[in-house]
Amino acid sequence: MMNRQFEASKEYAIHLDLIDPLASFRDEFYLDSETIYLDGNSLGLLSKRAEASLLSSLDDWKQYGIDGWTKGENPWFTFSERLGALMAPLIGAEANEVIVTGSTTMNLHQLTATFYHPSGRRTKILADELTFPSDIYALQSQLKLRGYDSEQHLIQVKSRDGRILEEEDIIASMTDEVALIILPTVLYRSGQILDIARLTKEAHDRGILIGFDGCHSVGAVPHYFDRWDVDFAFWCNYKHLNAGPGSVAGLYVNKRHFGVLPGLTGWFGSKKDKQFDMEHIFSPAKDAGAFQIGTPHILSMAPLKGSLEMFAEAGIENVREKSLNCTQYFSDLIKSELSGLGFEMGHPLEDQRRGGHICLEHIEAARICKCLKEEKIIPDYREPNIIRLAPVALYTTYLEMWETVQALKSIVKDKQYEKFENKREVIA
Ligand SMILES: *Cc1c(COP(=O)(O)O)cnc(C)c1O
Repeated sequence: MMNRQFEASKEYAIHLDLIDPLASFRDEFYLDSETIYLDGNSLGLLSKRAEASLLSSLDDWKQYGIDGWTKGENPWFTFSERLGALMAPLIGAEANEVIVTGSTTMNLHQLTATFYHPSGRRTKILADELTFPSDIYALQSQLKLRGYDSEQHLIQVKSRDGRILEEEDIIASMTDEVALIILPTVLYRSGQILDIARLTKEAHDRGILIGFDGCHSVGAVPHYFDRWDVDFAFWCNYKHLNAGPGSVAGLYVNKRHFGVLPGLTGWFGSKKDKQFDMEHIFSPAKDAGAFQIGTPHILSMAPLKGSLEMFAEAGIENVREKSLNCTQYFSDLIKSELSGLGFEMGHPLEDQRRGGHICLEHIEAARICKCLKEEKIIPDYREPNIIRLAPVALYTTYLEMWETVQALKSIVKDKQYEKFENKREVIA
């Protein structure tokens, strides 16, 4: 760990950039020199390597037509498996436990359809009240498909303060009526990291399966899903992993569960050597590949390859260290520069509980975000009062964080936000 001294001066921010061991990765990205992009936790930026791997797949199509399935630099027929293997170190898994397929929400449907086995008293699914809405919609519909009323059968652990979930409250909800638990690794608003190892152990001690949504941690925080013995996980690749809008998502299944029949089956889940036998009897792959459904969206997964190569070079532990240094620096600067201006920090201040973004709360959050955007600083806004700011380890500089805090100071001090309506846009 860098020794975490702190000074509020601009010179100190510049000094931190000079000693940043990951600084060279910034040149790999398409950045607008006028803009400070702090929204990499919603949509990561394009890198030159992601662009190159996309163009390479386009080129294979141009050159080979149908034969692109088996020819070219990245034959499409096994691309999902190879990308899964490249992702495995970020997940803490073996290569064949990870597959790149579907979308986050679709993968949650697949995994719930597979691992939710209500029986006897155990009919309930446990989630939390702070999670991303799409996860809840998916769980509600999975319950409905099994003939259960989601009001009764979906338990959502409450937060004491609206920001954080206490692990002991989650554990207290793991009753003998719970069949399955779905939780985020990192909460999308406050950025809190849950204690995955502890929750997994407590769930297993009670005979409950547990899976995690890693959207806000993958690419920012290391995972050890095998060591922690997590049953399954799913995540998107367009946030911290910079694989592009709507890029194909990821799915992990612990090898202990290999051989279970996927809840939703399709021909791309077949054993590779059987798939083109065209039989009407499904022969599932013996690993995470079984959870694929249809033809992979090749052009939406190709950028991931270039992006993952960069993460392999940078090292996820180094990415995490810089990310923690950045979120700490941002918090220190906010404390020193913005006190008395109505801001509150909604993210955890302890390292082991803090994910890749910070969460600033302000009653004028919506209008402050509009002012920031007008000054070409890109935050994101979450109802009702949250400004999320993500310093991305591979491309955000300390100077950009310093400039952002100065901008926040004048926006609020001079009430610049009053020129806007306090209302969010369609895409917040
Ligand atoms: C971004 C995000 C999603 C988005 O799901 P998609 O299926 O990719 O639209 C779901 N869950 C969480 C926690 C997210 O952060």
